[in-house]
Amino acid sequence: MAEQFSALFGSIADVGRTGSGGYRRFAWTGEDRLLREWFTGEAVARGAEVVPDRAGNLWAWWGDPDTEPGVVLGSHLDSVPDGGAYDGPLGIVSSLLAVEAAGPLARPVAVACFADEEGARFGTACAGSRLLTGALDPSQALALKDADGITMAEARSDRPDKDPEALARIGCFVELHVEQGRALEVPVGLATEIWPHGRWRFDLEGQANHAGTTRLVDRDDPVLAFASMVLAARRHAEQLGLLATFGRLQVSPNAVNAVPGLVRAWLDARAPTEDLLLQLLERLGGDPTQESWTSAVRFDLELADRLSDCLSAVPRLPTGAGHDAGVLQEHGIPTAMLFVRNPTGISHAPEEHADLDDCLAGVAALTTVVQELAG
Ligand SMILES: [Zn+2]
Repeated sequence: MAEQFSALFGSIADVGRTGSGGYRRFAWTGEDRLLREWFTGEAVARGAEVVPDRAGNLWAWWGDPDTEPGVVLGSHLDSVPDGGAYDGPLGIVSSLLAVEAAGPLARPVAVACFADEEGARFGTACAGSRLLTGALDPSQALALKDADGITMAEARSDRPDKDPEALARIGCFVELHVEQGRALEVPVGLATEIWPHGRWRFDLEGQANHAGTTRLVDRDDPVLAFASMVLAARRHAEQLGLLATFGRLQVSPNAVNAVPGLVRAWLDARAPTEDLLLQLLERLGGDPTQESWTSAVRFDLELADRLSDCLSAVPRLPTGAGHDAGVLQEHGIPTAMLFVRNPTGISHAPEEHADLDDCLAGVAALTTVVQELAG
């Protein structure tokens, strides 16, 4: 299996690779098309029939899901800017190998390859799965623009829509994913939930002025307020036991010799409970614009128990990262996630890594799961 895994995982190692050693695999680009063709080819070579759904996701089916809903594995192949090799592809590669290793199965089985999971190009995460379930409105999605002003409608050749028939073919969904913190000390773990998550935009206004002539006492510099806010967010996050990040910032006029007149900053916050997120916002004050809100997702307990029973001693852990699995669970599909240990905890960066032995443990676990659920 080590050779099989390395060969399959390595066969896409050059697609979308940048000088940093990371990946740029954005939805509906040449790289994305190559990866989808690769997925189709590898699935067909393993005896699957590959069909797209109306939302633009790919489904590799073994057996006929119209006779009985199937067991679906899967993940995504797109990346964030300069993302790592494992986030997404590890799940796809492991799923293909697990179905192959599982041998003949009684129930239909699929590997789903979700489109535009990261939202790196159009700013909306899990676009493929959310279009599929109807959680994302197609006309709203098609109007989204990338950094070059190209709309999603221009970028993709199809016209997406929700697809209840594709959803009806899913009996349950299991996504294997590289763990993205340092929350896992053994090779494989089982997700319990995805933390609630919000994004807010703060507009801090001041008065733009000359950096060389305006006396300090005369300045109304919003960067000072922003600096306090960043430090406060960190302090509150530590006290409340949550994660808060100001990862995007616009300073206006953004000139080295000008006192800024406006700071626009985006806060990403995730917490064990929704109440803690609201407490953070209250403590920070200001009047931020909420740009997104995702409630907590609790994965199907019955399915998790079944996976626990057939796998030996897998710890359960929550995660702060969103996934297509969360979207499907929210839609009422029994869903589970397996995590593979990430020794450094680095993710969404070129250094993202999982050891080969842990990846193989992931494939073995997923194989056992497929045999349990579909055997
Ligand atoms: Zn991912």
